[in-house]
Amino acid sequence: MGNEKLALLGGPKAVGQVEAEMFHWPIVTEEDEAAVLEVLRKGTMSGTDVTKKFEQEFADWLGMDYALGFNNGTNSLQAAMYGCEVGIGDEIICPSVTYWATALPAFSLGATVVFAEIDPVTLCIDPKDIEHRITERTKAIVVVHYLGHPADMDAIMEIAERHHIKVIEDVSHAQGGYYKGRRVGTIGDVGAMSLMAGKSFAIGEGGIFVTNNRDIYERAIALGHYERFNDSIQNEALRPHIGVPYGGYKYRMHQMSSAVGRVQLKEYDRRIGEIDKAMNYFWDQLADVPGIRAHRPDPGSGSTMGGWYATHGHYVAEELGGLSVSRFCEAVRAEGADASPGCNLPLHLHSLLHEVDVYGHGKPTVIANANRDVRQERGSLPVSEGIGAKVFGIPWFKHYRPEIIEQYVEAYRKVAANYKELLAEDSGNPGSVGGWNFFAGARR
Ligand SMILES: *Cc1c(COP(=O)(O)O)cnc(C)c1O
Repeated sequence: MGNEKLALLGGPKAVGQVEAEMFHWPIVTEEDEAAVLEVLRKGTMSGTDVTKKFEQEFADWLGMDYALGFNNGTNSLQAAMYGCEVGIGDEIICPSVTYWATALPAFSLGATVVFAEIDPVTLCIDPKDIEHRITERTKAIVVVHYLGHPADMDAIMEIAERHHIKVIEDVSHAQGGYYKGRRVGTIGDVGAMSLMAGKSFAIGEGGIFVTNNRDIYERAIALGHYERFNDSIQNEALRPHIGVPYGGYKYRMHQMSSAVGRVQLKEYDRRIGEIDKAMNYFWDQLADVPGIRAHRPDPGSGSTMGGWYATHGHYVAEELGGLSVSRFCEAVRAEGADASPGCNLPLHLHSLLHEVDVYGHGKPTVIANANRDVRQERGSLPVSEGIGAKVFGIPWFKHYRPEIIEQYVEAYRKVAANYKELLAEDSGNPGSVGGWNFFAGARR
């Protein structure tokens, strides 16, 4: 074992036939199907009766006062920002390495984005790179529990409290995860997240946020929930203007999604518990293999990876003779196991963050209402810019089946053991490793 010829070079594959169920997600039962059919047959797709039940159950699950459903996670984040009074000329601080929806909704509120570095180990915003970026215009820090790993919330909350700014948690990768024994999404002022079909909490297009702050909740309702912007509103500034949505937006969740959400919630903790067991088993088996490291919090820290959305590992090329992550992944894929180089590309390098005039201000949107040039050039965030070559996507097991997982372990072990065979034909990484929307390579 481990010395057999690499499949890429004509040897046998490490992974045999594996049932699709091992990776299939979400798990849908007759109960999900019945819940959807009920909404469909009643014709209440556009109502809020099911959604309100889902919100209540979701809030109870996380021990929060309020949950508000949305038609997607992007809009839950925009509404969370509006709830935190992010407006014209304001700034948010967020990590550059994330999916665009963490940051870009700020633009439609007239605000702009200042990017901070990520920590190379957690891959989440680096608390040491936040404080010097705070100005009198900073309204919120948007934290992402990136690829399931909880961000360093203690340090972040301490900074935010000292500067009287809000913290928005983007929980789209980490629903149900823990940070030092507390659920992620419940630590900042508001926890917003996607629940779309590709995420670990998957209900179809949908999003939700949770908060204990009634003003954040009501401002979000005012922005895009017209039929709930009614007499129930307590906020004195909002009350005189109920009836039509401030944003001119309509953010209500589709009830076929909320119906699925109610059923999924019942099984969610148990199902991600099995994912956690499977993924930890995978990494434990690979603990002594050079070149690759788990992306997960220390066992026993009280922190977890939630549903391990978009599972990734760290890649240390120096331990494998400088072999590129691209070539490494190519060889692992030839063994029959998922492996894809990179993660999200750093947003601060995208041309939208430099030159596009989205709304016709006569200048780039990123500085349209700013009192200084916040644009960040290549070279300004070296960790974020270099991370693509140092991480790779791995299989996302949904079931704890050791004999199957061991085949995938063997695929990785075999490639690492035979890395020298791959050096000759290694043409290196492409100019950028990763993608704006999806992660490079196959995902399943
Ligand atoms: C998926 C995602 C979103 C956006 O959610 P949608 O439901 O797709 O609108 C926001 N932030 C992060 C980090 C995401 O991965």
